[in-house]
Amino acid sequence: MVMVNATEMVNKAHEGHYAIGAFNINNMEWTKAILAGVQKANSPVMLQVSEGAAKYMGGYKTVVDMVRDLHDFMGITVPVALHLDHGTYEGAKACIEAGFTSVMFDGSHYGIEENIAKSKEIIELAHSKGVSVECEVGGIGGTEDGVTSNGELADPAECKSIADLGVDFLAAGIGNIHGVYPENWAGLNFERLGEIDEAIGHKPIVLHGGSGIPQDQVKKAITLGVSKINVNTDLQIVFAEATRAYIEAGKDRAGKGYDPRKLLKPGTDAITEKVIDMVTSFFGSADKA
Ligand SMILES: [Zn+2]
Repeated sequence: MVMVNATEMVNKAHEGHYAIGAFNINNMEWTKAILAGVQKANSPVMLQVSEGAAKYMGGYKTVVDMVRDLHDFMGITVPVALHLDHGTYEGAKACIEAGFTSVMFDGSHYGIEENIAKSKEIIELAHSKGVSVECEVGGIGGTEDGVTSNGELADPAECKSIADLGVDFLAAGIGNIHGVYPENWAGLNFERLGEIDEAIGHKPIVLHGGSGIPQDQVKKAITLGVSKINVNTDLQIVFAEATRAYIEAGKDRAGKGYDPRKLLKPGTDAITEKVIDMVTSFFGSADKA
């Protein structure tokens, strides 16, 4: 199977009351590890990159080629979409050109009028090329803008104005936060989620900052219309911890344990296991490929 856009997998998840995991990738190990996990769990998946991660990996074209080639080399048969996370107006256009199958245009820092105008343009361009689109309304709390215990909440009327443009799935703040959640976090705001779901006519909603939200809250959010969940921090933490354990045990100094293929293996395997666990016990997308 070739790579696909994310429209069908997210819509199926929305109808079936489960969610698609959208996992951020940082390099070849991340990509291989996540693909191995979803193939084993028989789950559809979105691999996503931020513009910063794409730059780190050598640009959008490098990312497209790497993901496409690994996908073929590994004989992946589950549906895989390659998505731009938090794209700028220019970045979204460049990724559509480079062969991404899905893009997010994040116009949440513009005023709503400008967000609507730019979102409309990106949606039309993407759809003309068979690429799925995510847009964002309002701010979502996160460590980058100073953590608040409530996270940020999107306005349902603004959500409707973006949803009406024909967006495939919508990112909207419902109390979620990017990065590590503070101890005094108030939790997801299900009342607001319900209002947004109603306002946008029950289109799929995206939950950003999916790492660290308690399992019962994730499951409840899925029943209320969340159909794509972004995961970044969780995989970074398991990779770092497994790599630390390897080095602290002195394994890099035993034999040829310094070989990068050995040094990076525990972290890579930890990502695969975490992905299998999340799609099976959190998102419910296992065996839905
Ligand atoms: Zn995000």
